[in-house]
Amino acid sequence: MPSKRRYLIFTITIIFLSAGVINFSTAQTPTLNRPKLVVGIVVDQMRWDYLYRFYDRYKEGGFKRLLGEGFTCENTYINHLPSYTAVGHSTIFTGSVPAIHGITGNDFVDQLSGKSIYCTEDSSVQSVGCNNTAGKMSPRNLLASTMTDELRLATNYQSKVVGISLKDRASILPAGHSANAAFWFDDASGNFITSTYYMKDLPEWVKQFNNSNEPAKLLAGGWNTLYPINTYTQSSEDNVAWEGTFPGETIPVFPHDMARIYKESRVSFRSTPYGNTLTADFAKAAIDGYKLGTGKATDFLTVNFASTDYVGHMYGPNSIEVEDTYLRLDKELTTFFRYLDQKVGKGNYLIFLTADHGAANSIKYLQAHGVTSNVLSVRTLMIKLNEVLKSKFSVDTLVRSGTNYHVNFNINKIEQHLNYDSVKNVSVEWLQRQPGVQNAVDIAHIGESPIVEPVKTMIINGYNLKRTGAVVIIPEPGWFEGSEKGTTHGSWNPYDTHLPLIFMGWNIKHGSTNTVVNMTDIAPTVSALLHIQVPDGCVGKPIVEVMK
Ligand code: ZN
Ligand code: ZN
Repeated sequence: MPSKRRYLIFTITIIFLSAGVINFSTAQTPTLNRPKLVVGIVVDQMRWDYLYRFYDRYKEGGFKRLLGEGFTCENTYINHLPSYTAVGHSTIFTGSVPAIHGITGNDFVDQLSGKSIYCTEDSSVQSVGCNNTAGKMSPRNLLASTMTDELRLATNYQSKVVGISLKDRASILPAGHSANAAFWFDDASGNFITSTYYMKDLPEWVKQFNNSNEPAKLLAGGWNTLYPINTYTQSSEDNVAWEGTFPGETIPVFPHDMARIYKESRVSFRSTPYGNTLTADFAKAAIDGYKLGTGKATDFLTVNFASTDYVGHMYGPNSIEVEDTYLRLDKELTTFFRYLDQKVGKGNYLIFLTADHGAANSIKYLQAHGVTSNVLSVRTLMIKLNEVLKSKFSVDTLVRSGTNYHVNFNINKIEQHLNYDSVKNVSVEWLQRQPGVQNAVDIAHIGESPIVEPVKTMIINGYNLKRTGAVVIIPEPGWFEGSEKGTTHGSWNPYDTHLPLIFMGWNIKHGSTNTVVNMTDIAPTVSALLHIQVPDGCVGKPIVEVMK
């Protein structure tokens, strides 16, 4: 090395040493800084506007604490189709899209065999904690890694990862392939259960929790409003025609006699705010049971509050039942955050809260206010489409189903007799003319089709060759498959896809942004904060504004 260059390196080293960039003192060697615990909360069917519609009714420690201390991304959107639970949870935790992570619906059709597959079904595993098939579940259909997998990989599996939800899919998919545990609720036994994918027997603390018979206790007093009913001024009146009813009820009004109803219908437990209470209590028990946030490595707890979805489906967004469910969830969050402060320490944990999808306003509610809305029966459309195709090609049932707004063709039948493109062309042209259909497109030719953004990208992101039907139906705004009672979700429209996204705690700035971000940006943001590799199918970008 020429002496001039050696002298230069020596000088630069001295400058760096005096600036403190390189520190040779072992006592001050920096160590990697990570939070003790990450808690990923997904509120099922929570529309972004619920943060503000009920804002004045929330108390200090729940949603108001998240907004008051944390960082809120006010324009967070789903960037895939369709907007369903399994798809949303997979996307949040993989930072990927259905085209890659493979979860294209709660149920999807294997295009070659024509078999309908439930997202987390797995016949190779057994139930643990119940004697029915509710536990025959695993994450094996998820084709990409999750941020929870990546955390386990990054810490040589010293981090603990636990998933919790009433719904199997909302517990299993977030917790990923290498989770220590995922627990979900079995209606028949009233237990939190799991599968042999994770363990052979339930841990002692889960057995104790199940033995406490909490669901029946929670419902014993019935469901009345948390506050006097005349204070629910953000919602429609209690008795409206477009709300669903529990078994034995003639009108959808408070108080709901849940003690009686639960005896008749175990599943009704889910459609009350007490499903969220049970979930929060179980999450606290899991923090104690697994000593989460007390080890050397960062742990990760994923919690889905599912009752918001069940109540929303039954009553619709503008019901007193939905408002009451959010006011009660706000209380659960207050207690839960306080519990984390106490057990893990304020500032030692990182939380994010988001949703898997939103929901449309009820059809009859919109019609009552002059807004266009209607039922689009995809099932009926498929029956008629099969008739159209039969008259044209003289072959029966060329369409298997319209699951997830996709036309699932019987590919084997078509390949034997016909030209696939011709069948798709006839289908698209016929579908485009039907009332309530904004557009229909053969995804193989989407590049040449006049589909506006962001819908075009959402279709492409949702299209997995092996698991998605070849033609997608886009309903007109306000039109959706379902009934005139309650509501549902699944479309590209903002009511289904505009989500809350708030980060709080360890290394999170206080503030907000109106910049548009996507659901796929959540996993890379958490990965960046934790200094771990992003999941293997990740297509999102970190949201840098949230970081200190
Ligand atoms: Zn959902
Ligand atoms: Zn739902």
